Amino acid sequence: MSWTDHIFEGYRRRVAELEISENPFAHGIAWTGGPDFVPIDQAKVPLLDQGFLKSDLTYDVPAVWDGRFFRLDDHLDRLEASLAKLRLTNPLGRQGMRDKLVEMVATSGIRDAYVMMIVTRGLRYIRQTPPEDCVNNCYLMVTPYLWVMDEAVQKTGGSAVIARNVRRVPAGAIDPTVKNLQWGDFTRGILEARDRGAQYPILTDGDANLTEGSGFNVVLVKDGKLFTPKRGVLEGVTRKSVLAVADKLGLPWVIDDIPVGMAYAADELLFVTTAGGVMPVTRLDGQPVGDGTVGPVTRALWKGYWDAHYDPEHSFAINYY
Ligand SMILES: *Cc1c(COP(=O)(O)O)cnc(C)c1O
Repeated sequence: MSWTDHIFEGYRRRVAELEISENPFAHGIAWTGGPDFVPIDQAKVPLLDQGFLKSDLTYDVPAVWDGRFFRLDDHLDRLEASLAKLRLTNPLGRQGMRDKLVEMVATSGIRDAYVMMIVTRGLRYIRQTPPEDCVNNCYLMVTPYLWVMDEAVQKTGGSAVIARNVRRVPAGAIDPTVKNLQWGDFTRGILEARDRGAQYPILTDGDANLTEGSGFNVVLVKDGKLFTPKRGVLEGVTRKSVLAVADKLGLPWVIDDIPVGMAYAADELLFVTTAGGVMPVTRLDGQPVGDGTVGPVTRALWKGYWDAHYDPEHSFAINYY
């Protein structure tokens, strides 16, 4: 029996049920502004949408776990803040979006879902059209849960590099607190990680501090204390959840500038994101992290994080049809 089984056993059962489902939306459901929901593989974006042409958009990703929406309001709060920074408005409104997402999950029958909500500038036919004249578009999709780190890898830990050939885009260029799809830096980092025989990149700020990786925050553990970078990062909901678990466990933590050197000296290293939860990392730049196994703090955070998905304070049950 592995330390991850109490979560994965039920999950595997639900996935097996989904696989034999005859629901046309079992592989994913999308809403792109029309009257109806569409199966995910038929959903389309108009060519002239500035979200597509210029990545003029923001998005957010909450998840559903075992039929319960997890921290949906945290994700809607962050989306609203991002929209305000980009001077976009949610065409559905907050409650309208919330209701539609719940309806989509219920319609699809998906019990463990990756949920994506995207708001774009919208269609803009002529270059000189002022951005405020655009009618913003919204795209929603619900697909089966995505793992940034596979179950098998989570048990023993993944491998990462600190990217040498690319840095995180500076906050003065692209605001990292606005969740965005301008992944040029991350994509280069992922390619470098693969070239160096590893799975995940961690990007620096170009000034020898850690920032984050390709869609996840970075947390390191040293002498029982958690450290996670303050600047150049998306303020992750998973990071918030994990720090709340740390509080319950009586583990101190700090959000601060974290020099790269601290990663090499860490006892434990973990990545955190909605699409994968708490992901242990046991190799960094080809060397073991700590003793090279998934450490006790990571295991406790992992368990606390998944257990929180059943806490009514942070999740609510979906009424499936
Ligand atoms: C989504 C994302 C994260 C993780 O945020 P969560 O709210 O925990 O899912 C971290 N970094 C980047 C760049 C992201 O896009």
